[in-house]
Amino acid sequence: MRVQTVAVAGCGLAGLAAALLLHRDGHRVTLFERFATPRPLGSGLMIQRTGLAVLRSMGLDHDLLNAGARINRLIGKDAGSGRTVLDVRYAALGSADAFGIGIHRAALFELLHRAVIAAGIAIENGRSVTGAPLERDGQRRLTFADGPAAGPFDLVVDTLGIGSPLVPAGRALAYGALWASFDWPQSVGRNKRSALRHQSRRPVSPAFSRTRPSRPRQPNSPGPVRYVAMER
Ligand SMILES: Cc1cc2nc3c(=O)[nH]c(=O)nc-3n(C[C@H](O)[C@H](O)[C@H](O)COP(=O)(O)OP(=O)(O)OC[C@H]3O[C@@H](n4cnc5c(N)ncnc54)[C@H](O)[C@@H]3O)c2cc1C
Repeated sequence: MRVQTVAVAGCGLAGLAAALLLHRDGHRVTLFERFATPRPLGSGLMIQRTGLAVLRSMGLDHDLLNAGARINRLIGKDAGSGRTVLDVRYAALGSADAFGIGIHRAALFELLHRAVIAAGIAIENGRSVTGAPLERDGQRRLTFADGPAAGPFDLVVDTLGIGSPLVPAGRALAYGALWASFDWPQSVGRNKRSALRHQSRRPVSPAFSRTRPSRPRQPNSPGPVRYVAMER
C-alpha cells in the first residue's frame, strides 16, 4: 500500500480518531484545527458497542473504562406520572459482557488527544479551514482564513463537524435538543439518586463526572449535574 499524505480537517473526536487510525496504517497525517489549542466542546455522551470496539482496536479501551462509567441499564420515567418509558438492558443483546460507557466529552477528548501526541501526529492549530480545492494532479490543498495554503494532500478527511465549510449546508431541522449544565443542588447532598428524584420534573441525563475538566465550583459543592430538555 502506498503511503498517502493525509490532511484531517478538524481536531474534534472524529478528527483525532481518524488521525490515529490513518497513522496506524502508515500514512503521513496532519491535523488542522481552528482553535489556538484543541479543546472539547459539549458535555457527556455514551459510547455504544461499536465505538467501544473501535477504541479497543486502538488499545484505548482500558483508559476509556477508567475515565468513564460502565452502563448496564438505562431507565427513563415520565416526570408527571412516574410511568416507566424506557427500560433497556445491554444484557438483552445476548452477551453478559455487553455494556455502554458514559463519559464526559472532555475526558474522551483528552484520551484521544494524548494518544495523538504520543503517536507524534502533527497538529496545526489556529488554522481555520475555508476550502479544499482539487488540483489538476488529483490532489487537494487546504485553504485557510489566514495564512498560506497547506498541501498537496492525497486525501483530505473532513471532520469539521456539522458546520463544515467543505460540504454544502444541510437543510434546517424542525426540531432540536437543548443541553445545559447546572450546579448540583446543595440541598440534596451527595446522593445522586435523591438529587435526580429531586429534579425529576425535567428529563435528566446523569453527569459522567469522574474525570470532568476543572471548572470553578462553589466551596463544598459536590459538582454539577446535567439536564436534558427536549423541544419539538
Ligand atoms: C446533545 C448531543 C448529545 C449527543 N450524545 C451522543 C452520545 O451519547 N453518543 C455519541 O456517540 N454521540 C453523541 N452525540 C454526537 C456526538 O457528540 C457528535 O457526533 C460528535 O461529537 C461529533 O464529533 P466531530 O469530531 O465530528 O465534530 P466536532 O466535535 O464538532 O469537532 C469539529 C472540530 O473541528 C473544528 N472546526 C470546525 N470548523 C473548523 C474550521 N473551519 N477550520 C478548522 N477547524 C474547524 C472544531 O473546532 C472542532 O474541534 C451527541 C450530540 C449532541 C449534540
